[in-house]
Amino acid sequence: MHSHQRHGFDYTPLFRFLLSKVGQPWDQVYSEASARLDRSEPILWMVALHEKDINEYVRVDESTYYSGLFVDEAGLLKKVNPQLTPGQMKPFCDCCTHTFNGVVFA
Ligand SMILES: [Zn+2]
Repeated sequence: MHSHQRHGFDYTPLFRFLLSKVGQPWDQVYSEASARLDRSEPILWMVALHEKDINEYVRVDESTYYSGLFVDEAGLLKKVNPQLTPGQMKPFCDCCTHTFNGVVFA
């Protein structure tokens, strides 16, 4: 058994925003993103600033996944694994609709 409840605020628009900014300077993306939020922590759920935090994907809740992002040496926002597609993702359970970057996968 698991809960399908989301934790409060829906950060989908933030994650979509960050995805749309891949390849752009992180400083700009960060200030633009944090200006829209009352706290900047959710940005770092998706963007790894330290090598130890880097993951191919991040799980926002049990059935919602997004590409893991990081900042490269040039200061640009990048996907950890640009080749990762919804077809390669494995659902966590059978009872929920799973999405990767907003695309349903099964
Ligand atoms: Zn489920």
